[in-house]
Amino acid sequence: MKRQIFNLNGKITFINDEPSKPSPNLPVSKYLAKLIEDIVRTTNLSININSTTGGSHSKTSFHYHGMAIDINLINNKKVDDPANSADVRKFQLMASQHKDIGECFGPFINIRKRGNNISQKPQMRTKHLNHLHISSQR
Ligand SMILES: [Zn+2]
Repeated sequence: MKRQIFNLNGKITFINDEPSKPSPNLPVSKYLAKLIEDIVRTTNLSININSTTGGSHSKTSFHYHGMAIDINLINNKKVDDPANSADVRKFQLMASQHKDIGECFGPFINIRKRGNNISQKPQMRTKHLNHLHISSQR
């Protein structure tokens, strides 16, 4: 089942970084929606989601199944802003520990989880320096 992600009183925004492209506020897996809301609630960080099922991603990407999102801003600062590193790290840490996490890629943590198996994916880092990629397992 899919649903849209709650905006949690504006703590979650959906601004496409390509303004001519459609809004990324599209239905996603209810497990992914809950995962993202849980992390925003626990960390109290605000995020901008710049891609859900749209945009261009690798052929087999979870994005096309509504099971992945990309985040380009945390607390209104770019993910690759060095002044933002503590909050980006905190967000990634919470995401990587969530029970429904599938993939957590970004500047600090790069893992994929299948069932209870976590594999390190350091090769994903270079493509995720300016955004976080978060997917759910279902
Ligand atoms: Zn992505």
